[in-house]
Amino acid sequence: MKRLRTQDLPEHGSRFIIQAIIRIGRRELGCQLLIDCGATGPILREEWVRESEILVKKRQKPIEVQNASQQPIPRVGVHYIQPVGLVIGKHTEQLVWEVGQIEDSVDGYLPVTWLSKHNPNIDWEKCILQWHSKYCREHCLPKEYEFELVDSYQLQQEVLEDLASAVATVT
Ligand SMILES: [Zn+2]
Repeated sequence: MKRLRTQDLPEHGSRFIIQAIIRIGRRELGCQLLIDCGATGPILREEWVRESEILVKKRQKPIEVQNASQQPIPRVGVHYIQPVGLVIGKHTEQLVWEVGQIEDSVDGYLPVTWLSKHNPNIDWEKCILQWHSKYCREHCLPKEYEFELVDSYQLQQEVLEDLASAVATVT
């Protein structure tokens, strides 16, 4: 894993991005997702949803969704997307998404509850994610994988130049 290191300062590294496909009928839309420990549910970026011309539904009663700092995430909790396919390598599931204003650098957040549900093995050093759980074998992986242990998926890392400038501006 690539790291930025300045002596006597906290160590920073790039975040892991999952390159996924959102499948709606015959349409396949590539997207970059971040596993966000602060998110309580899956959220797609409003602009990306608009540009991708995905139909949204409006809640009768909006809810408030907070980030890790317990601040409301703007415009989340009003609109949502009915179940659409989320494809990561050979792993496919149906997921309902919140829609809202999140950072521009990714198209969506996957929450930690998503990780607990599918419970993949993640090798953080090699950036490899492997699906192995009983749940995934029963629900998400193709049938021919039923008796195989794992399906590997390479995670991406953010470009470190961006992080270097982000770190620089904090000083
Ligand atoms: Zn799964």
